[in-house]
Amino acid sequence: MAKLTFREELCKGCGLCVNACPKHLLSLSNTRLNQKGYSPVEQSDPEKCTACAFCATMCPDCVITVEK
Ligand code: SF4
Ligand code: SF4
Repeated sequence: MAKLTFREELCKGCGLCVNACPKHLLSLSNTRLNQKGYSPVEQSDPEKCTACAFCATMCPDCVITVEK
């Protein structure tokens, strides 16, 4: 199973990674804000992640790290 790490404090809630995930595993938080006041990205169903890293590639702020 892949392991995703989020540098959450850098996330600006733009949603580019959400749209990039072919498995639809990413969403913006409905309940939390980060230090910048944005809804940070969250991952659901991590066991379904294929480690394709499309999300990390898409993020303009290098928030996401994908490890296999
Ligand atoms: S690595 Fe791929 S499957 Fe996993 S969350 Fe990112 S885009 Fe989705
Ligand atoms: S992780 Fe990156 S691409 Fe995803 S919402 Fe945050 S800033 Fe945007």
